[in-house]
Amino acid sequence: ATPTAVMVATGVGANNGVLIKGGDALEMAQKIKYVIFDKTGTLTQGKATVTTAKVFSGMDRGEFLTLIASAEASSEHPLAKAIVEYARHFHFFDEPSSTKDAQNHGQQSKSFGWLLDVSDFSALPGQGVQCFIGGKKMLVGNRKLMTENQITIPNHVETFVVELEESAKTGILVAYDNELIGVLGVADPLKREAAVVIEGLMKMGVNPVMVTGDNRRTAWAVAKEVGITDVRAEVMPAGKADVVRSFQKGGNVVAMVGDGINDSPALAAADVGMAIGAGTDIAIEAADYVLMRSSLEDVITAIDLSRKTFSRIR
Ligand code: ADP
Ligand code: MG
Repeated sequence: ATPTAVMVATGVGANNGVLIKGGDALEMAQKIKYVIFDKTGTLTQGKATVTTAKVFSGMDRGEFLTLIASAEASSEHPLAKAIVEYARHFHFFDEPSSTKDAQNHGQQSKSFGWLLDVSDFSALPGQGVQCFIGGKKMLVGNRKLMTENQITIPNHVETFVVELEESAKTGILVAYDNELIGVLGVADPLKREAAVVIEGLMKMGVNPVMVTGDNRRTAWAVAKEVGITDVRAEVMPAGKADVVRSFQKGGNVVAMVGDGINDSPALAAADVGMAIGAGTDIAIEAADYVLMRSSLEDVITAIDLSRKTFSRIR
């Protein structure tokens, strides 16, 4: 392709909300053999909703939700936002109307006045969050987070979590003061175009793969809905880049599509990194393509554009 053709294609991309960072990226996309999709926020809407909140200790429900929301309030993770939102609604409907009025007339932050003070907060990528509330350790996250902190998961709790996972939900475990106190179930619907795009890629001879930090059961349940048959689950953030490299073996050209901070090493490792426009800045920086409309259809747009621009000189 001539420099003009590359320039034109880059312009066509930009007009369609596909930002291409350079001619090499444009040329590489035609050769893509595998497209590895992150799950949360990429295949799914990243608009998680809490569907279940079960308290396993004797703790009051409002108190339980306050603790969790306080722990998650400093996290940027889509799961954290869903949890805080759920707790906020609970409090809004639960509290006396006088406080409600007072809060509505106050600053926006006032509506979060019920959150507790948190110290030593840390977000543990691929696991959850940890902090101290009232001098006691609070953990919100997956099984790995619990096991690494020596929290025992009783059988009846494990059964409950498995049921959530088999229905494509993410089970979030909550421990306070070294005891497992409850579980949340979070649903994150697929993007509407996801299944069609997966089908389209396969018709183009491109193999779709899912990679996620989420657990196996949830990952497979979501994969089944979207039509993906190659799933790498329970992958730690650093591991996503290794997954990319494993697919590159034998010289395969691999694309990675992701939105999160935890996807950026994989986006950088891929031959073609594609960031979801609605994603984090770090992912956008690491990528070769930015899909401004955040639509998965543009993965196909990008490959098509490259194929059309370079087909003649192959
Ligand atoms: P994905 O690869 O699907 O984008 P992540 O790597 O961000 O997922 O997270 C993997 C898992 O870690 C989540 O499914 C969840 O169980 C847990 N997790 C991560 N961050 C949080 C958080 N802020 N609160 C609760 N759980 C979390
Ligand atoms: Mg993600």
